[in-house]
Amino acid sequence: MSSGLLNTAPRPLRVLMIEDYEEDALLLQRHLGRSGFRVDALRIETAEALGHALSGDREWDLIIADYTLPGFGAREALELMQQRGIDVPFIIVSGTIDEVSAVNAMRAGAHDYVLKGHLERLIPAIERELHDAEKRRERLRTERELQLLQQRFSATFNQAAVGMAHTTTDGRFVLVNQRLSELLGVPVDRMLALNLKDFILPSERDADKELYAELVEGRRTGYRSERNLMRHDGSVFPAQLTVSLLLHGSVGHDVTESSVLWVVEDISARKAAERETSELMQRLINSERLAAAGRMANTLAHEINNPLEALTNIFYLLDKESLTLAGQELIAIAARELDRVGHITRSTLSFYRKMPGRTLDLQTLLTEVVQLFQSRATQHQIHMDSFYGPGIDQTGYDPALRQVFANLVGNALEAMETSGGRIRIRARIRDGHAVVTVSDTGHGIDGANLQTVFEPFFTTKGERGTGLGLWVTRGIVEEQGGTLQLRSATRGKYRGTIVRITLPAAGVREPAVLVN
Ligand code: ADP
Ligand code: MG
Repeated sequence: MSSGLLNTAPRPLRVLMIEDYEEDALLLQRHLGRSGFRVDALRIETAEALGHALSGDREWDLIIADYTLPGFGAREALELMQQRGIDVPFIIVSGTIDEVSAVNAMRAGAHDYVLKGHLERLIPAIERELHDAEKRRERLRTERELQLLQQRFSATFNQAAVGMAHTTTDGRFVLVNQRLSELLGVPVDRMLALNLKDFILPSERDADKELYAELVEGRRTGYRSERNLMRHDGSVFPAQLTVSLLLHGSVGHDVTESSVLWVVEDISARKAAERETSELMQRLINSERLAAAGRMANTLAHEINNPLEALTNIFYLLDKESLTLAGQELIAIAARELDRVGHITRSTLSFYRKMPGRTLDLQTLLTEVVQLFQSRATQHQIHMDSFYGPGIDQTGYDPALRQVFANLVGNALEAMETSGGRIRIRARIRDGHAVVTVSDTGHGIDGANLQTVFEPFFTTKGERGTGLGLWVTRGIVEEQGGTLQLRSATRGKYRGTIVRITLPAAGVREPAVLVN
């Protein structure tokens, strides 16, 4: 049977024998062999040979030593092993040994002693010592692993880029890392007398009370919250707290002890970026509104201007002589008021009219717009790339086009904010015209809405949209003598939107520049 086979299979045993009689050594080997060991033995008789045997590559399971050899013996061997910190079962097998020497040898580190005339005691002693040695090695291994684990833990804990602490369930610090001590401005050793809750802004201290209670009662494993923390010097910073419950139990014991792990991150930079982004968005919306208001005023002024001119002419042609004095007076007042209306419409028109002379090249305009949106794009995992063909940096167009490109890139971004994606901006000169395309891989525009999107106030963005962007955009482009085309798909390989703007040749400076 296989179990019988296992029991009888000889076990390897590497034995170092300190014995001057070869005969005795062979006898011992035979005895071990008969007792189920496959012996691999080396016999030595000098201190030098022992030193050599212990420093070589070989490992030993057992040392069997005669008590006294000429000039060398178990005592000296034990001393050498002790010096070298070698832990191998050591059994004295001797012809004679008196009680006192035996006790001394045991004190010096021998594990047992057996008389040559009573070899029947040897095997159980070896079995026992091999077993104990294995236990000792196992413990050493565990201790080393534990030590390593501890080193790794403390390195991770102390070098972490975020603040970390263990506290008791009522918040008292038990363990604090370097980063947290820096964040709070209190040396690590002084933190241990303090409570984490004392660092939370008083007005926010009870905000997470319920979550914390659930955590401590074991009804949840963790939670996150954003709180303002106070440094030792009274300054305040926003922090993200990640709080979790730790249960400690020792092996074989039911009793568990709990503590709380806090991870504290300084989020001032993130908060500042968020603020900046929302301010930027507000500014963009405002400029879109302003441009829209301008266009609306412009349309109105145009509409009013025509009847106004007609009225002015009528007043001029009126035969004032035929009127009463009072009538003439009233007509004069009416003419003055009409004049004022005319002045208002004219100044509105000139307000919206482009500033002559001041132009910018398309590359500069587009680069500015890309920079404006860069951080928002990065934040939403949107990749922006731009390509400018030769001569684009030598063009000269109305800076009002900045609003056009900002609207288009803004729309492209907003179509991908939840999904991420790619925005591609291309500008090149073709047949003397400048052609700018802005394309995205966003959700696209439904076929039914392809025309509606250009109507003022049409938006699918609720509170966040004005619905004026495309209306203003087309208005400005057409005012510059250009055209705008829009194509879009809501599904499939080419999902996304592409807007192409063609601007008149007037802004393209030819041809010397193009040759360059
Ligand atoms: P707003 O952006 O304020 O909604 P716009 O006039 O700029 O106003 O756009 C009108 C609507 O057209 C948007 O609400 C959106 O539904 C759609 N739209 C515009 N550009 C895109 C685009 N690149 N991708 C998907 N939808 C777009
Ligand atoms: Mg828009």
